[in-house]
Amino acid sequence: KPQIISESKHGIRRNQLSPCALKVTGELQHAGYAAFVVGGAVRDLLLGKTPKDYDVATDATPEEVRNLFRRSRIIGRRFRLVHVMCGAETIEVSTFRGSGAPAPDEEEDQGNSGLHVTNANGRILRDNVFGSQAEDALRRDFTINAMFYHPGNGEIWDYHNGYKDAKAGVLRIIGDPRTRYQEDPVRMLRAARFAAKLEFQLDPATRAPIAGLGHLLEDVPPSRLFDEILKLLLSGHAQRSLKQLRAEGLHHGVLPLLDVILEQPMGERFVTLALHETDLRIKEDKPVSPAFLFAALLWHEVLALSKTIEDGGERTAPALYQAMDRVIQTQVEMLAIPRRFTSTMKEIWGLQPRFMQRAGKRPFALLSHPRFRAGFDFLLLRCESGEVEMELGRWWEKFQHAGDAQRAEMLQPDT
Ligand code: ATP
Ligand code: MG
Repeated sequence: KPQIISESKHGIRRNQLSPCALKVTGELQHAGYAAFVVGGAVRDLLLGKTPKDYDVATDATPEEVRNLFRRSRIIGRRFRLVHVMCGAETIEVSTFRGSGAPAPDEEEDQGNSGLHVTNANGRILRDNVFGSQAEDALRRDFTINAMFYHPGNGEIWDYHNGYKDAKAGVLRIIGDPRTRYQEDPVRMLRAARFAAKLEFQLDPATRAPIAGLGHLLEDVPPSRLFDEILKLLLSGHAQRSLKQLRAEGLHHGVLPLLDVILEQPMGERFVTLALHETDLRIKEDKPVSPAFLFAALLWHEVLALSKTIEDGGERTAPALYQAMDRVIQTQVEMLAIPRRFTSTMKEIWGLQPRFMQRAGKRPFALLSHPRFRAGFDFLLLRCESGEVEMELGRWWEKFQHAGDAQRAEMLQPDT
């Protein structure tokens, strides 16, 4: 019983879709299966935005999809789906699901052989029960994410009034909000992210239970939280998303990294600058380094802790390193920042004191450090936020590009 919206009404043209999505749905339909573009791509096209990626929903099983496309593989355990590759593009193809959600962790449900598994809080641990298209629509998170586009005839199949909500700018969760957050607390973060990214209003009933359910995020596997927060930070609307998180009371206790920092003026200024720059870079299609971003988010916590350790009698350098380790340790218990990022973060932080040394051979050694660029960009952020003198940043800017004679002149007397 979906509402069918014709092409002449919704206005999305077939050629706006990615060739890969058209190919995948086309071949599935040709083989006799149902196949729709679903989720974020339909929503974004409807809102006049370019989709980041495409999801396809079908009644073919993962094995059947796998057998149809040479360049494809089945991934996931808690939620099995197929990645189909064409050229540089990857399309996610999932089989209509019966109930529940794309669910949390792989580790924690090992040894449990059920297809649909929940824990004591009602959180869904695995969800591989196949179902009808209507059931698939029902287990999706928001009404605007539950629309199916039929590439054959151009219709949108809308099961939950997503079209109306999209046009009205309303983010509304499907079903009973409290239950849906209990099933998967990450939906609260998604609510904040989509509201910020799309500049949508949270429907009041969708919003109401969030304030009291933030603690459920503690129960979410740290690796999944990391994925979701990274999406939020790289959405191109990181600033607004974090504001939204605060407005919903989700940053407290949940993300230790945000707690402390956003509540001290200097920290807030620094973080705001870092996020602003990140958003700009994303808008300009420039690469963003997650390690740099997390280094920025945590910097003032590192500084504060390092000062405390120094006050306890430790020397400056070891104090900094101890603080770095402890801040990261605390953070990864909640949010699993992968090691490849934490090691770069430590390098960026560890370089900062070395920018203070402007005599002798040391500046040359720093210049040739493989992380000099990141370290320098980080220094500039510190300058702009008012933490260190702008003059230091300018000195390094000049020193980098100066010739030998000028560099010699710039060096401070060795003491
Ligand atoms: P983005 O622009 O961030 O990719 P998206 O809507 O495509 O947005 P995905 O995380 O790619 O988000 O998920 C694809 C679709 O799967 C969603 O549109 C939604 O229908 C469904 N979905 C994803 N995560 C959840 C969840 N936690 N609970 C229920 N449905 C979900
Ligand atoms: Mg998507």
